[in-house]
Amino acid sequence: MEIYLDANATTPVLAEARTAALAAMAEDYGNPSSVHGTGLKARALMDAVRAQARRAIGAADGQVLFVSGATEGIQTAVLSAMTALRERSASGAGAAATVLYGATEHKAVPEAIRHWNHLLRLGLQVLEIPVDHRGRHDLDWLRAHAPGAGLVCTMAVNNETGVISDLPGIAQALRGSRAFWMVDGVQALGKLDLRLHELAVDYATFSGHKLYAPKGIGLLYVRQGAPVTPLLAGGGQEDALRSGTENMPGIAALGAVLSALASGQVFQPAHTLVHYRERLAQALRDAFPDIVFNAPADVSVPTTLNFSVPGLSSRLLLDLFDAAEIRVSGGSACSAAKAQPSHVLEAMGLPAWQAAAAVRLSFGPATPASVIEAACERIRACGESVRANCLGASPAGDGPVPRLTRFVADAACSYVVADPAGGRCVVVDPRPDLNETLAQWIRCRGLELAAVLATHARTEVASAAAALRAALAPAWSATEALGWPVGVESIALGDQCLSRLPLPGLPREAAAYVLRDERQRCWAFVGDMAPAATSDRGARAERDAAAAALQALQALHASVGGGGALLLPADDPDERFASTLADGFGPALAQPSAAADAGEAVDPVALSPSAVVVLLETRSDLVLVDVREPYEQRLGQTLEIGGGARRWAVPLSGLVEALPDLLALPAQTPVLVFCRSGNRSARAAAALRRLGRQRAYSVSGGLALWPAAASAVQRPSQPALPTQAA
Ligand code: PLP
Repeated sequence: MEIYLDANATTPVLAEARTAALAAMAEDYGNPSSVHGTGLKARALMDAVRAQARRAIGAADGQVLFVSGATEGIQTAVLSAMTALRERSASGAGAAATVLYGATEHKAVPEAIRHWNHLLRLGLQVLEIPVDHRGRHDLDWLRAHAPGAGLVCTMAVNNETGVISDLPGIAQALRGSRAFWMVDGVQALGKLDLRLHELAVDYATFSGHKLYAPKGIGLLYVRQGAPVTPLLAGGGQEDALRSGTENMPGIAALGAVLSALASGQVFQPAHTLVHYRERLAQALRDAFPDIVFNAPADVSVPTTLNFSVPGLSSRLLLDLFDAAEIRVSGGSACSAAKAQPSHVLEAMGLPAWQAAAAVRLSFGPATPASVIEAACERIRACGESVRANCLGASPAGDGPVPRLTRFVADAACSYVVADPAGGRCVVVDPRPDLNETLAQWIRCRGLELAAVLATHARTEVASAAAALRAALAPAWSATEALGWPVGVESIALGDQCLSRLPLPGLPREAAAYVLRDERQRCWAFVGDMAPAATSDRGARAERDAAAAALQALQALHASVGGGGALLLPADDPDERFASTLADGFGPALAQPSAAADAGEAVDPVALSPSAVVVLLETRSDLVLVDVREPYEQRLGQTLEIGGGARRWAVPLSGLVEALPDLLALPAQTPVLVFCRSGNRSARAAAALRRLGRQRAYSVSGGLALWPAAASAVQRPSQPALPTQAA
């Protein structure tokens, strides 16, 4: 069962709200502008919900308009204030110089300010109000800048941290200023006792979907006498301040939520929410003992926890929680797709790693205690998985030690070859930004560092190698250039053997190493010789480099006894993972695809749910490959269908080790790769295709869509794949 702890992004729709919305669609479906009975009923409902909204936000007078959500409310407020400022200036009643907004504001606010400032050609200077380390506005700064300001925008509660703004303090700082004041109240509705009329707020905006109403309904409060410029002109609804037929199902649903809020029956009281937060925070501390919480609890709503864990990226934590079926988000949901540091935490002056690694856990005030308890249990299981897999600062893991692991940072690759039984390992091409991870990985698994090798004499690799040796094996015996131990022919690592390749085409400052195992599988660490496809096909230097590489590779070909070696690069910008001598190296040497030239239909890599179901049901020889990392596999769901299909656990970090076996499967055997979201599996399947395994596929959308996707599939009468052999 999924545990949804991302309420600051959105909430499910309350049962009462669903019922009310359905009634507004099926029975009371009137248009509130119609003057007949059906319309009048709709108008009465709308008026009642408006009155409830007034009570919920403490707006005894002024306008409360129904809008589509906070983003629209923000536009209207900013447009209204800026239009009034323009008129004020044109009439000679004084020109404002600045617009001020909180440094931790949701993107909707600064973007709206810039947009309208530009469109209205106001040329106002837009300034961020700094916040302190607790995330609260610098009131002295605000007081100093208030006299020149035309508009001030401050949120009531921050969506990433839950930090509550000091609205009375801001009101004080703005006293005497002619600036309009807009409050983004999105994350405060239902969580704070809002008394807008006591605060001289000119505009306040809210979104229903953050408090159990559906998406598409929101509120804009406008203080009595504050100017309004409609964003939408038309039929004159909402006193001609917001035209367009009202979203009655949304309004009815919002009404049901506001009734539930007023009744005190559905939403948990504040002390219960505080207790929930304590339970969750304790579970997080148990799971990740060195966790840091990024916002002070005493000035935050209890429903948001924002934290970072040293050594664990937010991406990793999100994958981990998602595998445990706990839905949380990294930073704010809007920036979740980009792994950028949170601007909110940066504004609070948190260290860069903390701002980049932040995770937000947020629950709605209607969450039952049983969900919190289940979440705590799963969070602790996440901690066990992290420890078992040597992540973060875990002292000792009990998971199996993989024999060949690839680490990547910004397309630069490092490798660890390990002998699990003998407890030794060799690192190839360490990198400064991976060193900490590598050291932790090796230390936690209790491995002795036998050598640190480089395939090239780059300074950053040399310094990373020295640092790694110093961290893991301070007493180090002599090495030749590039880290090879003096007087040693080959390095034995249990069943694997690592040797240097004599490659005449290579310059002296480069080296290549061959790894063979007991099954004669063969990998070669070839550094810069590996293909790095770039778009600059014609570059002469590139052609020359490729030709030199080819010469070295031909020697390699001879030394590994044929084309069977997988070449592992030092840099992998195109995520090829490996290449073979048959690949045709680099753009200068690459052969165009014959199939693409002939205009043949290309077999897609990412399969839709229906194609996946067909594959699972029709191909008994199918191999299912789970490329999630072991810490996810330990916790996670798997593809629940596929009966007798062979299942291989091949984390992406261990893909290079499994490649020889995957490539050795019979040509007709389909390989279906899956992961959490479909991204990693698509990359792995594409790499398999490049290496010649044409029947490599990924599950589009990943496990996130299963098993719902499977049950929704209409079985086609024809197989969706071009199957040549059943
Ligand atoms: N303001 C805050 C504080 C928010 O959290 C959000 C949504 O995440 C918005 C504004 C924008 O709301 P909507 O996307 O519903 O218009």
